[in-house]
Amino acid sequence: MEVDMDSNDMNSLHMRGVILAVHQIQEALRYREDNRSTINRKPATVNASSISSLGSSRKDHRPLLYEIRDSNIHGKGIFATKDIRSGTRIIAEKPHMIQTGRGDIKMVMEAFKRLTMKERATFVSLQGLPWHTQKLMSNITTPTTSADARVVLEQIALLGSIWANNAVSQNHAQDFVIHLDMCRLNHSCIPNTIQYSEPGSGLFVVVAITPIAAGDELTRSYAMPLLAHEQRLKVLQWWQFQCNCRACDLSSPFGQMIEKRRRNIQQLAARTGLADSLGLTAYPALHFQEPEIPVNDALAQLVGLLWDIGVPDTTYQLAYRKAFALFASKGKWQHAYKCLNEYHHINLVIFGQDNPRTVRGQKAVDDFLEWLLNELPPPNELNRLPPPVTVADFE
Ligand SMILES: [Zn+2]
Repeated sequence: MEVDMDSNDMNSLHMRGVILAVHQIQEALRYREDNRSTINRKPATVNASSISSLGSSRKDHRPLLYEIRDSNIHGKGIFATKDIRSGTRIIAEKPHMIQTGRGDIKMVMEAFKRLTMKERATFVSLQGLPWHTQKLMSNITTPTTSADARVVLEQIALLGSIWANNAVSQNHAQDFVIHLDMCRLNHSCIPNTIQYSEPGSGLFVVVAITPIAAGDELTRSYAMPLLAHEQRLKVLQWWQFQCNCRACDLSSPFGQMIEKRRRNIQQLAARTGLADSLGLTAYPALHFQEPEIPVNDALAQLVGLLWDIGVPDTTYQLAYRKAFALFASKGKWQHAYKCLNEYHHINLVIFGQDNPRTVRGQKAVDDFLEWLLNELPPPNELNRLPPPVTVADFE
């Protein structure tokens, strides 16, 4: 049965159905956003004028180092087409859609309608089936029949779902963005890439943090890399999947080693007061007894474990900086130097060798090493200091 509807008649059953659905999806998105915000996001206000569609820059980058194809982890994934060195920028991508503030399905819908048909198809293919694409291609601005209203409802539900599953935060969670390629990165608890939005350029950058062989799938960690298994399970519930990576196989020696190390890091972070600096306090806490060892010893153990973790997250930089200052104030020069060197190491991997941050970091390490070796009476331990990290360490 087709029903003629006046688009201004808000009492019409079908129109009310559409509005109700919009509210329900908004509520669902807010609920999920609120849950997320307790994990790693700050709530922000919605600014109706700030949502925009920018298109994709995939043409510029994809042929070089990666391709998108079916993944054994989930759906489509991104795979290296060449051997990639640690520290390599693999993807630098402009957002397809941006929204300032948290999800509002009406604004997502408006932005979607501003995309070209080709861009819409690409957006929908992030998650949709062929019939989804067909539904979302029809551009119904004002539903006039019950069939129209049904299509609009389905469009809203699909768009909300695609947005909720693929948007990531940037600028300290002030904006939410969708990148058509980057959001294909599947999860691993021992990822081989790290991502960040580059200040100034508006690009979202994916960088290798381990050597990656041609044909390997690129992965990122959807959960903070220091979390133990039970904490990761809770975080990953948001995406409704169970991780099967090597770190999650707790029956294997490797999985047990990773688990033990991450729990140990959290205990030491609690003992040294660095849990907040490491971003751990935003997650469901583990139950453990704080180790009864001197704070200095705990800090030395903590930074030692962070060196081993192999994921040079910027989160750790604050811990290294604090540890550097503390060790230097106590005259523990070897530890201080290692912290400074590792701080710089993270800059080098994440920002690249020509970045001013990296250049400054290299100079700070060189200067400090020179000062240590020239100005201080050289105790034996200083003779064993490793040379400063340089770009050659990634070759
Ligand atoms: Zn895992």
